[in-house]
Amino acid sequence: MNLLLLGPPGAGKGTQAQRLMARFDIPQLSTGDMLRAAVAEGSALGQLAKSIMEAGDLVPDDLMIDLISERISQADCANGFILDGFPRTTAQAEALDTMLGDRTMSLDKVVSISVDEDGLVERIIGRYSCVDCGAGYHDTFQQPKSEGICDQCGGKKFSRRKDDNRETVLSRLNTYHQQTAPIIPHYEADGRLVQVDGMAEISAVGDAIMALLENSRDD
Ligand code: ADP
Ligand code: AMP
Repeated sequence: MNLLLLGPPGAGKGTQAQRLMARFDIPQLSTGDMLRAAVAEGSALGQLAKSIMEAGDLVPDDLMIDLISERISQADCANGFILDGFPRTTAQAEALDTMLGDRTMSLDKVVSISVDEDGLVERIIGRYSCVDCGAGYHDTFQQPKSEGICDQCGGKKFSRRKDDNRETVLSRLNTYHQQTAPIIPHYEADGRLVQVDGMAEISAVGDAIMALLENSRDD
C-alpha cells in the first residue's frame, strides 16, 4: 500500500505514520527526518538545508525530488511506503506522479489530516522524541507510560527539534499555506483524497484512518 499523509506541521502525520508502519509493515518516508539526518552527518545536503530548516523555509525542489526518488527505489519500499512531508510544492507533486508512473507505481490513498490551527503551536512546542529509536512524544498529549523511559526501546534520552520554537512554527505554517496547501486539489480531482479529523485523540485519528483504508481495500 502506497500512502501519502498531508497536513500542516503538527497535524499528526509522523504520529500516524508510526502507527501505519506497524500495521502494514511498510516504511515511513519522512523527508524532514532524512534532512535532519543529513544535517547531523554534515553532508553537503545537510549543510545547505540547515539554515533553511531553521528559518522554516523549504529546501529546493530538485534536491528533495532526487532524495525521495532515490529512497523509493530501495528494496524496503517494494511492498509500499508512507510519505510524510513530501510533496510540499506543486513541482514536487508533479515530479512524484512522474517518478511513480516510471516505476508503474501509484498512490493508493492520500490522507489529509485537518486541524484547527490554534492548537498547532501547542502541539509543536510540546513535541519531543527518543534519541535512540525516534519514537515521538508530547509533554501533555502523548507521555511515555513510565516517566523518562521510551515505551518502544527503553531509551532514556530524549531531544527536541531546533525548529520547534514559536517563531519558526509561525513561519512553517505560513510556508505551508503558501506552498503546500495548494497541492490538495491535485489529489482531490481523482478521488484519492480522504479527510480525517486530526483534532480527535491520537488513537481515534488512527482508527479513523484505518477504517478509511480498510474501506478503500473493499472498493
Ligand atoms: P507532524 O508530523 O504532522 O508535524 P506530529 O505527528 O509530530 O506532527 O505531531 C506533533 C505533536 O503533536 C507530537 O508531539 C504528537 O505527540 C502530538 N499529536 C499528534 N497527534 C495528536 C492528536 N491527535 N492530539 C494531540 N496531540 C497530538
Ligand atoms: P518536517 O519534519 O516535515 O516538519 O520538516 C522539517 C523541515 O524540513 C521543513 O520545515 C523544511 O525546511 C524541510 N523539508 C522537509 N520536507 C521537505 C520537502 N518535501 N520540501 C522542502 N523542504 C522540506
